Amino acid sequence: MEFVDLKAQYRTLEDEIQKRIAEVLASGRFIMGPQVIELEAALANRVRARHCISCSSGTDALLIVLMALGIRPGDEVITTPFTFIATAEMIVLTGAKPVFVDIDPRTYNLNPELLHLAITEKTRAIMPVALYGQCADMDAINSVAQAHGLPVIEDAAQSFGATYKGKFSCNLSTIGCTSFFPSKPLGCYGDGGACFTNDETLAAKMREIRDHGQAGRYHHVRVGINGRLDTLQAAILLAKLSVFDRELEQRRRVAKTYSDAFNGAVQVPFVEPYNTSAWAQYTVQVDNRPAIQQRLAAQNIPTAVHYPTPIHLQPALRDLHFGEGSLPVSEQAAKRVLSLPMHPYLTGAELREVSDALLQAIDELTVATTSPR
Ligand SMILES: *Cc1c(COP(=O)(O)O)cnc(C)c1O
Repeated sequence: MEFVDLKAQYRTLEDEIQKRIAEVLASGRFIMGPQVIELEAALANRVRARHCISCSSGTDALLIVLMALGIRPGDEVITTPFTFIATAEMIVLTGAKPVFVDIDPRTYNLNPELLHLAITEKTRAIMPVALYGQCADMDAINSVAQAHGLPVIEDAAQSFGATYKGKFSCNLSTIGCTSFFPSKPLGCYGDGGACFTNDETLAAKMREIRDHGQAGRYHHVRVGINGRLDTLQAAILLAKLSVFDRELEQRRRVAKTYSDAFNGAVQVPFVEPYNTSAWAQYTVQVDNRPAIQQRLAAQNIPTAVHYPTPIHLQPALRDLHFGEGSLPVSEQAAKRVLSLPMHPYLTGAELREVSDALLQAIDELTVATTSPR
């Protein structure tokens, strides 16, 4: 069994992907070819945003956005510690300081009620993450941001396709960023990402930054990066976009099947009633995580931990002085979360295998720890 089965997806899309790749190879237009423009229009339309700026990765999307907003040394950007490193890493790379706000224990997303405590006169932006595919409470975050005149950047690397109160992730705030890393809900065959906004001026800046700050050929109006999306990756994404809605449905079916099977015996993901998740991960909470992982691995069932160490406790960011105990909800979640195989091509038999194995492992370990010596 695969944790994310990209080969099964390829088998169903092989003809279309081969055709799209062949078109690019025959055209010889590998950098900013017509497929990149076509993809940007399709993605913008998909989330109903005015502008989509495709780019080289989800990480570069965050960097491009921070650069476009003029974030610089001395600034502070508020974010969550319970995320992939890239979120805080790009803030640090601009010279700014990430200021961490703890998460809501049910959704794992930045807790808006704690937000006002973190705002200082140095705060320049707020960057919530849509963890595991579910959006943060963006209305609450946007309203705090608006009161302080701050832009909000949604790190939607895991949530392309998700909705929040009927609106699309990536288009819920000043700017949304997503990733097309192969295992994300919409993934390419390498690295890729995109930024979304309805703000014309920011969109123009981001387009320039993505391409060495060029406003025209060899006319560099600002310092940028080489952050373009490959034409080949755009072509692959166009092929995958045609089945994306069907795949989202299948992810929802997988999540529901798991949750129904666990029926109170396991702490399953909580999705707010006003959200639909893109189900980048299906993540439960367990005691005895290492022992459970070991038991599942012995039955050839892969699992993963997203993420074992909250960002503020990573060695690379230790000098920010958010010590152990400073963000207790994130620290507690990091000790207990466990992600199960999640992709659109899981069969009913496989889902039963995973849920049976997890229930059995929990059962055995509970007996083992409660039985008398
Ligand atoms: C994957 C991910 C990123 C980085 O995306 P890449 O395309 O791998 O650079 C950033 N933030 C979050 C929350 C992610 O899950």
